[in-house]
Amino acid sequence: MKKRVHVNLPVEELPKSWYNVKADLPFKMDPPMNPATGEIMNPMDMTAIFPKSIVEQEISEERFIDIPEAILDEYAVFRPTPLIRATFLEEFLRTPARIYYKYEGTSPTGSHKTNTALAQAYYNSIEGVTELATETGAGQWGSALSYAGRKFGLNVRIFMVRVSYESKPMRQHMMGMFNGTVEPSPSINTESGRNFLTDERNYPGSLGMAISEAVEIVLNSEKKKYSLGSVLDHVLLHQTVIGLEIEKQLAILGEKPSVILGCHGGGSNFGGTILPFVKRKLQGDELELIACEPESCPSLSKGEFRYDFGDSAGLTPKVKMYTLGKDFVPPSIHAGGLRYHGAAPIISRLVHEKLVTPEAFPQDETFKAGILFATTEGIIPAPEACHAIAGAIRRAREARDRNEEKVIVFTLSGHGLLDLSSYTSILESNEKLLEFEGVKG
Ligand SMILES: *Cc1c(COP(=O)(O)O)cnc(C)c1O
Repeated sequence: MKKRVHVNLPVEELPKSWYNVKADLPFKMDPPMNPATGEIMNPMDMTAIFPKSIVEQEISEERFIDIPEAILDEYAVFRPTPLIRATFLEEFLRTPARIYYKYEGTSPTGSHKTNTALAQAYYNSIEGVTELATETGAGQWGSALSYAGRKFGLNVRIFMVRVSYESKPMRQHMMGMFNGTVEPSPSINTESGRNFLTDERNYPGSLGMAISEAVEIVLNSEKKKYSLGSVLDHVLLHQTVIGLEIEKQLAILGEKPSVILGCHGGGSNFGGTILPFVKRKLQGDELELIACEPESCPSLSKGEFRYDFGDSAGLTPKVKMYTLGKDFVPPSIHAGGLRYHGAAPIISRLVHEKLVTPEAFPQDETFKAGILFATTEGIIPAPEACHAIAGAIRRAREARDRNEEKVIVFTLSGHGLLDLSSYTSILESNEKLLEFEGVKG
């Protein structure tokens, strides 16, 4: 039998703290700005929408932040997640590179989002919050937060970008099953939503618009808070369990990564994956960190690095990030989770400092990579995750052409079992995507 490498850590190896990269960065991050005054924000103003403990994490400079017992217990339901060597994909590509993927699709709702959803639900619940409002693109975040809210006794109200609401009914069923309440955005139930709807071009919605609606209904409420599934520092912090586990798993194999990749929407799975490795890069290790994004929403590769709002109505603090502009309405690509005008401030700064390299991919290349991955490795990837696979394949082919023995590691952020209709419609538009040789060569 062929040797197959799956590194499954025992539950005792679950990281007991999250890693805060800000403790190790040789520069200070630009602070958020108050949208009303245009001045540097008093962090505690953020308690208008977030619980205090989350705001404290957002601004913390501590290197390690302990994960509370109640969250560890929930993580243990599905973590540590496996690191798998993609031997069949390597064989197909005839590459001398070794390709490893960290699989986050084993989480209860099928993506990495549960890592922060559980943490946020927990902190809100201990501060007496009873309802969380949020936005969701493809529905992954709404599902994760509904699950987490249900665990910790919170009601969850979700504004779902309308194009996804209409094209991904299965995600609605999942949110409903965990008692989440979901409505298409822009909706007529908020002032921001009604304003957006006065321009029909806004009808398909965007993450930026959905964020405005969710923020609006919690502003200055004690019992209702807002929860964001990506972009902010505390979200990336919670996601570092991914990279911390990868570190342990690679150490067991005695491997040193040469390239680490992840798909990039708001930056949370990518940040969670690479942040624990940034220190090595600062110390001079030869290590490429690559953020894979769609060509149709290329915030990091084509955006401007400046202060901008996180939402479309301008209700959130302004943060310094790569942005395509808050009014940018991305085309309705299938990877709904990557349709965001901005990017995480931490990742943006790392790109600006040339520690992280962005790379953009056309949709057909990502789906072709996804279909090849499903066929070789036996996991149907989420359309978002297909971007990371496409990035890994580009690097593996490059290694073949140069005959280089590289170690390529990427995070497979979620499975695509609820995205099969996207695969079908892509295949209908381009049959060539199935044209690759038999995978057994
Ligand atoms: C939400 C989502 C993404 C994009 O969000 P990030 O914050 O950039 O990670 C990527 N993959 C999957 C499976 C998602 O659900």
